[in-house]
Amino acid sequence: MLVSKNLAVNESGHLTVGGVDTVSLAKQYGTPLYVMDEGLIREHCRSFKASMDRYYGGEGLVCYASKAFCCKAMCKIMLDEGMGLDVVSEGELYTALSVGFPAERICFHGNNKTDRELSYAVESGVGRIIVDNIFELERLDRIAAEKGVKARIMFRIKPGIDAHTHNFVMTGQIDSKFGFALETGEAFEAVRKAISCENIELAGLHCHIGSQIFDIDPFVKAAEVMLGLISQIKDELGYEVKELNLGGGFGIRYTEEDCPVEYDRYMETVSAKVKEVCAEKGLRLPYILIEPGRSVAAPAGITLYTVGGRKVIPNIRTYLSVDGGMCDNPRYALYQSKYDIEIANKASLPKSDTVTVAGKCCETGDLIGEAMPVQPAEPGDILAVLATGAYNYSMSSNYNRIPKPAVVMVKDGDSRIVVKRETLEDIIRNDIE
Ligand SMILES: *Cc1c(COP(=O)(O)O)cnc(C)c1O
Repeated sequence: MLVSKNLAVNESGHLTVGGVDTVSLAKQYGTPLYVMDEGLIREHCRSFKASMDRYYGGEGLVCYASKAFCCKAMCKIMLDEGMGLDVVSEGELYTALSVGFPAERICFHGNNKTDRELSYAVESGVGRIIVDNIFELERLDRIAAEKGVKARIMFRIKPGIDAHTHNFVMTGQIDSKFGFALETGEAFEAVRKAISCENIELAGLHCHIGSQIFDIDPFVKAAEVMLGLISQIKDELGYEVKELNLGGGFGIRYTEEDCPVEYDRYMETVSAKVKEVCAEKGLRLPYILIEPGRSVAAPAGITLYTVGGRKVIPNIRTYLSVDGGMCDNPRYALYQSKYDIEIANKASLPKSDTVTVAGKCCETGDLIGEAMPVQPAEPGDILAVLATGAYNYSMSSNYNRIPKPAVVMVKDGDSRIVVKRETLEDIIRNDIE
């Protein structure tokens, strides 16, 4: 079984993505190659929006977390689909604005935004700046004053929920570099301060409890905790917080072991909880924002490599080397992330071999994965790593001065380059002798 629904095997036994033959793509554009399925990306956007409409009367905004995969074409798709957009740096903001993305639908995140980034966000009219700490609030208030405007903000709150374990516990999360702690009263004091800032409009509160989360419970719990704070602010400060941003982190299927929850179930359950708590506490229903990143982009992407050498170390393991590696996909090196692979030109054969896929970088840890079941491969075969649409291209580097691969978008049976392959000239472009 293939992990994403846009993948199939055609009559030649070749892997297809969005109906396009991956072996032909490798031949046409070369390898390594990122391939993104525009149809599936759009389908994900529509499905998140439909859930928001169905269960919350459309009183919210689905913001794509662009750090998952950001380029002009992707921002254009989000614009087209009527999505909001999260950015975490001036580079991401610049990319979004370069395609005419409306600034009021942009959220600017980050735990250490520079003065330049804050100024850029304020000047561009970014709709929500998610303020991470008091130092940032003070700087933003001053910058907004200098420009004679009011900055619209949300506060990033650590709701004290550990979503990385299945049995989530409400401790430990104080130890995070992101946001204001709830338990210590830090968050409440920040709200008090923001209300008194002349050039700040506190629109809402934000939390993001983690990534690749498969349970709905932590999200529900987070919504409950956040509404508790909104209620306390109303009671004790007489201030009504209008917006609640519940972040992203929805899990996706990387391998068959992963069982993601449908977005519909998530929105249904969380919306019901928000309505219940608001009724109980006499609060107006907040405008809700959610921020899916991985779940929009990851299943839509694959990476194609050409197989090089196959090195058998008896009784230990078999290495299959590919023409990319941690430079285009550092996720195994970073977090031992699991992926499924296919030999794209032999995708109808059984996976009778087990290999460690190694990259070409000078680093022992440069692996795409270990103990991976795969069809028997020979040099020259095309190896596809599945579900690489998020945090692969966006985390790529030029380690070993390896040019970054091209990104190709497929749609309705056609393909087009959306990010050009880097050249050797690009590698030395900024060097000065
Ligand atoms: C990374 C991030 C997201 C997206 O997370 P995914 O796991 O990719 O859905 C959303 N919001 C914030 C604030 C983030 O940092």
